Amino acid sequence: MEIKVLKNILEENESWAEKNQKLFQEKGIFAINLMSAPGSGKTELLNQTIEALKNNTKVAVIEGDVATTEDSERLKRHGIPIIQINTEPFGGECHLEAHLIASALKLLDLNDIDILFIENMGNLVCPAEFKLGVHKNVVLLSVPEGEDKPLKYPQMFRIADLLLINKIDLLPHIEFNREKLLRNVKKIKPRLEVLQISAKKKQGLENWMEWIRTHRS
Ligand code: MG
Ligand code: ZN
Repeated sequence: MEIKVLKNILEENESWAEKNQKLFQEKGIFAINLMSAPGSGKTELLNQTIEALKNNTKVAVIEGDVATTEDSERLKRHGIPIIQINTEPFGGECHLEAHLIASALKLLDLNDIDILFIENMGNLVCPAEFKLGVHKNVVLLSVPEGEDKPLKYPQMFRIADLLLINKIDLLPHIEFNREKLLRNVKKIKPRLEVLQISAKKKQGLENWMEWIRTHRS
């Protein structure tokens, strides 16, 4: 019984995701779903990415959070459209679902967006189960989280199109084996693209921007 219910939820989500995807296609919007554990640096990455893009690209953001607008507040200074989704009124879901994205899209002027970033909830588990209809799923893993995460949360790494290893500026101070992480990634998804960055210290961001450019066209 439980399995059947879950299947229905996922099927319904899938059809919403297809609708979103169609809309992105129609409007020529490149949509990226950013996922990670809490505190891996999604918002700081967005902060730097928007800064780099905003002069010649129309960027919009959908922010997912259980209860606060903190992340949206941090991005407000860029003067771009931001839609905040708080899931607490709907039962405090720990992931974004495609129908929530569909509702958020209604609040945006889709004719005026080139790239849409969706910051998913900080969670390596269920965001991986709920497709949103985006073009690319990007997963962040920060150095302090350790090398074992791909093995512990394989689905998240399986659905990822890109893994960003963030906070590499901390490498000298933290016990972290990069080779071991890459080996673990290979076990789950052999051809997963990996970039190493420090959003805060602006390291490696040119590769990330290049990745966006390449995949957008
Ligand atoms: Mg955040
Ligand atoms: Zn969840």
